[in-house]
Amino acid sequence: MDLKGQVGIITGAARGIGKEIAFALARRGVNCVLCDMDTKQVNETAEEIANLGVETLPITLNVADLSQVEQMKNKVIDKFQRIDILINNAGITKDGLLLRMKEADWDAVISVNLKGTFNCTKAVIKAMVQKRYGRIVNIASIIGLIGNVGQANYSASKAGIIGLTKSTARETALRNINVNAIAPGFIETKMTKVLSDDVKSALLKQIPLGRFGKPEDVADLVIFLVSDKSSYITGQVVQINGGMLM
Ligand code: NAP
Repeated sequence: MDLKGQVGIITGAARGIGKEIAFALARRGVNCVLCDMDTKQVNETAEEIANLGVETLPITLNVADLSQVEQMKNKVIDKFQRIDILINNAGITKDGLLLRMKEADWDAVISVNLKGTFNCTKAVIKAMVQKRYGRIVNIASIIGLIGNVGQANYSASKAGIIGLTKSTARETALRNINVNAIAPGFIETKMTKVLSDDVKSALLKQIPLGRFGKPEDVADLVIFLVSDKSSYITGQVVQINGGMLM
């Protein structure tokens, strides 16, 4: 899978799944644009990745803010003159039962997860159309497929990402742009660290493969989806959950 010299934008790249995806891309020679809210952490991650011999561009931004995203895209074009890959990974949770869910928590999750994915896709799509090439991978969630108690905002945002993925795939297919979503199950990161041991052991019982996923599992799938090995796959939701949902 030769991705050498390509340019990839990864959102939420400072840590967790996004960081691992950036590493996996960099190991294959992709120059990485690392976007995150956390300036210190994103700069540190970019330095680590630069040690792999690729160029990096760390950018502090909130994906929910279209003007910040447009500025990011302009910086990328100024530096690299191309955008081959976009990984919409930045995401947050603000859990609570629907009955008690604050409007602000609904808005925040929809803004970052769903609007953020729209913003970044809208910003890069013109450059991809002009080049007649692009690979977009949106990180959705198993929760977008099955729902979850206490996660109405999160599941709606992830289900929205799935619809956005399919529409974008249809609109751009003839321009050689493939757009797919990944729906991870339980992956061990800071996002899932907050769950109680009771919740974790109940979840583990629902996973036929008998273990939680690792960010590397998701990163390996991303590599396949941005490579030529998956050139006939678009508009799909690829599940990666240890068999939790079949
Ligand atoms: P994580 O460890 O919390 O990392 C998320 C990263 O995104 C953080 O560095 C965070 O920065 C950044 N971020 C948050 N809001 C942002 C914004 N508005 N603009 C730019 N960056 C932002 O989460 P993760 O577990 O790696 O999750 C990555 C993605 O996978 C998310 O979309 C999540 O929904 C999805 N996912 C995760 C799991 C799982 O089990 N972990 C399962 C299914 C799907 P700050 O720290 O500064 O906020």
